[in-house]
Amino acid sequence: MSVSHTDAGKILVAEDSLVIRTVVCDQLQDEGYEIVEAVDGESALRLCSAERPDAILLDIEMPGLDGHEVLVQLKADDELSSIPVVFLTGRTGTDDMVAGLRAGAHDYLRKPFEPAELLARVGGAVRIKRLQDELQLRNEQLDKLSRVDGLTGLHNRRHMDEQLEKELSTGVRHGQPLAVLLLDIDRFKLVNDVEGHPAGDRVLQEFAARVLSVVRVGDVVGRWGGEEFVVIAPHTDRPGALRLAERIRAAVADETMDVGDHRIPVTVSIGCVVGLGPAAGLLADADAALYRSKDEGRNRVTAA
Ligand code: GH3
Ligand code: MG
Ligand code: MG
Ligand code: MG
Repeated sequence: MSVSHTDAGKILVAEDSLVIRTVVCDQLQDEGYEIVEAVDGESALRLCSAERPDAILLDIEMPGLDGHEVLVQLKADDELSSIPVVFLTGRTGTDDMVAGLRAGAHDYLRKPFEPAELLARVGGAVRIKRLQDELQLRNEQLDKLSRVDGLTGLHNRRHMDEQLEKELSTGVRHGQPLAVLLLDIDRFKLVNDVEGHPAGDRVLQEFAARVLSVVRVGDVVGRWGGEEFVVIAPHTDRPGALRLAERIRAAVADETMDVGDHRIPVTVSIGCVVGLGPAAGLLADADAALYRSKDEGRNRVTAA
């Protein structure tokens, strides 16, 4: 999604009266707005989906679907509900206008109106839409950031937890087991103690890059915390999981890692599990397998 501020905006004008529609459209066009015209409620809804305007000028009294009914349908549609609606009302009473505002209209204009008032109300609606779009974009960026591990650039635990739940339900739907691998760098505390914390950080980054270099497209790699990592491998049976784990183990152990002015050997212990059970159970089994790898001498792979 991109937010553009260079143009005045796109306005959907839904009004059955040709005279009023023409006047409104001319005035908005003179201000630089792009106009989409609808002659009734049905076409207003259709054009709204197709054109995604920044605001809607919506006549209340129209044949077929009237403005109130159009508003209800817009508000029920997640994709369209944030587009501000300015009601055009010809009625003198306030009931119609109050009902519209209650139902979620942004503003209203009483016919007949001065050009200045039209432009002010439409301008206000477009400003709100722009602010909403910007907020949504920021939220999406924040959400993305909150799922990334700052040191390695891998997904963080929060993302991996959600991803595991998603992959598990997909796996259940397709009857395809998935593999979960827990990776724990061996004697990593020693790296920090001997080489210093910055060197440890460097090893974590290089470790992440090596794991990424040997997994398949579709496998998801994340930092579980500290020097522990997790790989989710969809559509993977037990032999496949063992092959993947062994590729990772070898990619780490086979070549020493650069820590500045020299290189050090690094190894990883891995526990893996294959199945479709609840996430907590799979993780516990992978963890138990990981601890067997540690107990049996490290730099090895164990399947649950
Ligand atoms: P084991 O083979 O049994 O796994 O031993 P270990 O030393 O790897 O395990 P331990 O849990 O004792 O130590 C993990 C270390 O990882 C301790 C902690 O300081 C270090 N660590 C955790 N996060 C980071 C980090 O972001 N950067 C660095 N440099 N070190 C970290
Ligand atoms: Mg009308
Ligand atoms: Mg650990
Ligand atoms: Mg460790």
